[in-house]
Amino acid sequence: MDRKLLIERSAEGKQSVSLPACDVPEQALETLIPASRLRRQKGNLPEVSEPEVVRHYVNLSTLNHHVDKGFYPLGSCTMKYNPKINEAVAAHPDLSELHPLQREETLQAALRIYHDVETYLCAITGMAHFTLQPAAGSHGELTGVMIMRQYHRIKGNHKTTVLIPDSAHGTNPASVHLGGYRAVTVASTSEGLVDLEDLKSKLNDEVAGFMLTNPNTLGIFETNVRTISELVHGVDGLMYMDGANMNALLGIVKPADMGFDITHINLHKTFSTPHGGGGPGAGPIGVVKELSPYLPVPRVEKADGAYHITWDHPQSIGKVLGFWGNYGIIVRTWVYIRMLGAEGLKDVSKHAIINANYIRASLEDIYELPYTSPSMHECVFSGDRQKARGVKTLDIAKRLLDYGVHAPTIYFPLIVHEALMIEPTETENKETLDHFIGIMRRIDRETLEDPSLVTSAPSRTPVKRLDDVKASRELNIRW
Ligand SMILES: *Cc1c(COP(=O)(O)O)cnc(C)c1O
Repeated sequence: MDRKLLIERSAEGKQSVSLPACDVPEQALETLIPASRLRRQKGNLPEVSEPEVVRHYVNLSTLNHHVDKGFYPLGSCTMKYNPKINEAVAAHPDLSELHPLQREETLQAALRIYHDVETYLCAITGMAHFTLQPAAGSHGELTGVMIMRQYHRIKGNHKTTVLIPDSAHGTNPASVHLGGYRAVTVASTSEGLVDLEDLKSKLNDEVAGFMLTNPNTLGIFETNVRTISELVHGVDGLMYMDGANMNALLGIVKPADMGFDITHINLHKTFSTPHGGGGPGAGPIGVVKELSPYLPVPRVEKADGAYHITWDHPQSIGKVLGFWGNYGIIVRTWVYIRMLGAEGLKDVSKHAIINANYIRASLEDIYELPYTSPSMHECVFSGDRQKARGVKTLDIAKRLLDYGVHAPTIYFPLIVHEALMIEPTETENKETLDHFIGIMRRIDRETLEDPSLVTSAPSRTPVKRLDDVKASRELNIRW
């Protein structure tokens, strides 16, 4: 592939547009546009033909791996296929050209979509109300912790800590800390579940709440969740569910029924909106009725057959984002939920669970499975056996790129050595799963027969092995 930049391809006179000749006399231009605003020289822009532009960008788009190009089993992050109809609706000018400061009478359709999504998320989670403002899962967590604080402040509770299992996503302790509480770690058992004895030893009147991911980051359902909720409620703590990834629960289990008081959902994971590369996303927060007054303002409410933007919520924690959130993401979610309907959503979760278990069952003879409790939407292997042969999980991840699939999440959760966290999602068929399983088995054979193939990978990608730390600290994006 020719890697020249457009500016390097530029040649005087080449062009990609055919504009009609200017029919405004030059003198008229001088009077219509102030002289200081008139460009006297050509802008320093590349002059290239249309096919050159198209090929340039199409080629660039294939340098990186992405979900439209191949399998992307990134655990916890749910890189499911994003239906293109979502994009078409979100880009419709009736929605994309709205201005957020328009009067509410002129925004009724847009507000209906917003209100519908809130209603659907309530039905899916069992929560009483949602705010769609937070721009990411971690932002949702912070908003949830602020709601937790508000609850305790208004009740006059003195609380200082939030409990978090040792399998938690890194954003959990960060959000708790930013929200002004101290994070206290609760241990996991050998089955990969919350250790109830350790939990009891850490429960006291200072505990503001428990932030739990269910299914947890090992892909295991916390079977004791009701008991955990009762214990935490016993000290007037709130149960917060990190529901970033709801792929195993849709239409099957509701967080409210498990005793959770607050949950966030990553629309950009479970509800098929494109993500990666830093956004945009949306991390709506749902709460039980008792906590509804604390939700951020403005809220979108329906009264007398019309939708209203309401600010009069005196106990609200305030605003957490400009306007109403990342609206385009909310529209995509609306389309996705309406296309699938209740039964379709339930199938999403059933297929996500079957797919993860199929991969698990097809690889557990070769890759070590440190926690053997049943898997939900993802399964976590350890690369310890391969490491004993001198091949690290990182090497396996790089080798996968040579075979044209994205690596799973690696080295997370932290409680698994050499972790390989695989989430196939429901959007992949059996052929794709078999293809991936074949590659994983082949890489394992390579670690026995010719480990250097794996330790020197990738060899077939546009760039070879990068220094990850240097690459992210010293981003080289200049020509
Ligand atoms: C992705 C994820 C988050 C954070 O979500 P962002 O949108 O990346 O901020 C939190 N918890 C879990 C379990 C996740 O998978």
